[in-house]
Amino acid sequence: MTDITFHTDLLIDGAFVRGDGEAERVLNPATGALLVELPEASVEQVHKAVSAAHRAFDGWSDSTPMERSRLLLKLADAVEARAEAFARLESLNCGKPYARALGDEIPAIADCLRYFAGAARCLGGTVAGEYLAGHTSMIRRDPVGVVASIAPWNYPLMMAAWKIAPALAGGNTVVLKPSEQTPLSTLLLAQVAAEIFPKGVLNIVCGRGGSVGQTLVEHPLVRMVSVTGDISTGKKILQAASSTVKRTHLELGGKAPVIVFDDADLAAVVEGMRTFGYYNAGQDCTAACRIYAGAKIHDRLVADLSSAVKSIKVGTQDEPDVEIGPLISDRQRNRVASFVERAQMAGHMEITAGGKVRAGGGFFYEPTVIAGARQDDEIVRREVFGPVVSVTRFSDAEQAIAWANDSDYGLASSVWTQDVGRAMRVARKLQYGCTWINTHFMLVNEMPHGGLKSSGYGKDMSLYALEDYTVPRHVMVRL
Ligand code: NAD
Repeated sequence: MTDITFHTDLLIDGAFVRGDGEAERVLNPATGALLVELPEASVEQVHKAVSAAHRAFDGWSDSTPMERSRLLLKLADAVEARAEAFARLESLNCGKPYARALGDEIPAIADCLRYFAGAARCLGGTVAGEYLAGHTSMIRRDPVGVVASIAPWNYPLMMAAWKIAPALAGGNTVVLKPSEQTPLSTLLLAQVAAEIFPKGVLNIVCGRGGSVGQTLVEHPLVRMVSVTGDISTGKKILQAASSTVKRTHLELGGKAPVIVFDDADLAAVVEGMRTFGYYNAGQDCTAACRIYAGAKIHDRLVADLSSAVKSIKVGTQDEPDVEIGPLISDRQRNRVASFVERAQMAGHMEITAGGKVRAGGGFFYEPTVIAGARQDDEIVRREVFGPVVSVTRFSDAEQAIAWANDSDYGLASSVWTQDVGRAMRVARKLQYGCTWINTHFMLVNEMPHGGLKSSGYGKDMSLYALEDYTVPRHVMVRL
């Protein structure tokens, strides 16, 4: 913990520069203490970054997939070589347990970079043929241009990797903006990436959404905007992007339903919910936060889950065996607390675990279970983005499916039953980008991650992401 370096310079056109804009206070959420003051990019600096990406586009998009692949592989190696430094910054800036950042996130990030390094070499057009006499048609997949990538605070480095890896693999150049609350690991990535990529290919600018983010989205030379964040942010970005008809890639919130049938393996459900409902303090768009339980299993599930949740070890980054950390900010904690208070005030719900702000420093909130929630309750309908799971009793499969789908969100869901036929029937009906059966939360770089409905429509990970970051083009030759 002693020799942590906070890099605070932006990366613009291959050079490190100090932000000319207002300073942002970057905190350690586990104590509330100031880590560093970080000046954001000025409007001119954002413009410079976009111009640099625009200039670099010709050369980068002309590079061969093999060349791009090689550099992404180098980046993966470099992230792994500095795994501890990255994990330390991530855990300090987000309040995450250090062991989780190091053991779960860094390997997934390196794997994402390596996956897209490989995928870059597998992307091809689908057609070469004569569809008009005397003419040969072919399909190419080409890069879009300059991509503005805007990341959230819950997994800052992983979201950066999910965005830059497919964009760069596809031959685009990038201006990446991390969340103003969690820029530190991304700024270390800037240091590492600057030694690998040609100047201007990857630029990193920091700052708030309303200033730096908005300037990026409105810039006429930006051809695509990729954002992971709140639905309200996605809507604002869509509006701003519409004036120049930019391509958009939206990964917005989630409110994952978990349907537990009476025949489910109760111990597995409880263990699963204890992990997947509360990982990263529930600040996860796929968090298992909305349980629908069959009438016969409901009471045992509430009892066992509540006692399991009480055993979750909450603490600061380096406490032995710590499982979850604080929320990202005081504001986020107040938001979570107010959801629980309103649920309590409704009268028909019971807080069977947690339900309180944890005393002492830092932005901690106790892992919470709310039983007796009804379909039209706010706690069932709105994304809390904190360690809070609601349980609702259902009477039959049709009702569970209807309630699960009765949501503005459509990102992730799960079904728990020992009946394979029922699992498959329910999975088919769920209007979610992902449905897990007898598990939840598991992601692999080969498979797409993304939503339906207000959860957005961009796909991260997998060849589908590479397709999102490239455009199919028709080239026709008259013979
Ligand atoms: P947020 O919407 O507040 O911010 C996300 C990013 O957008 C930040 O970098 C922010 O500065 C920027 N931004 C905000 N307003 C902007 C504007 N007008 N123009 C341009 N940029 C702007 O989200 P957050 O609080 O950082 O993250 C939490 C949200 O992200 C949750 O809703 C969560 O569900 C969602 N999320 C979704 C996924 C997914 O894959 N679907 C993954 C992680 C997080």
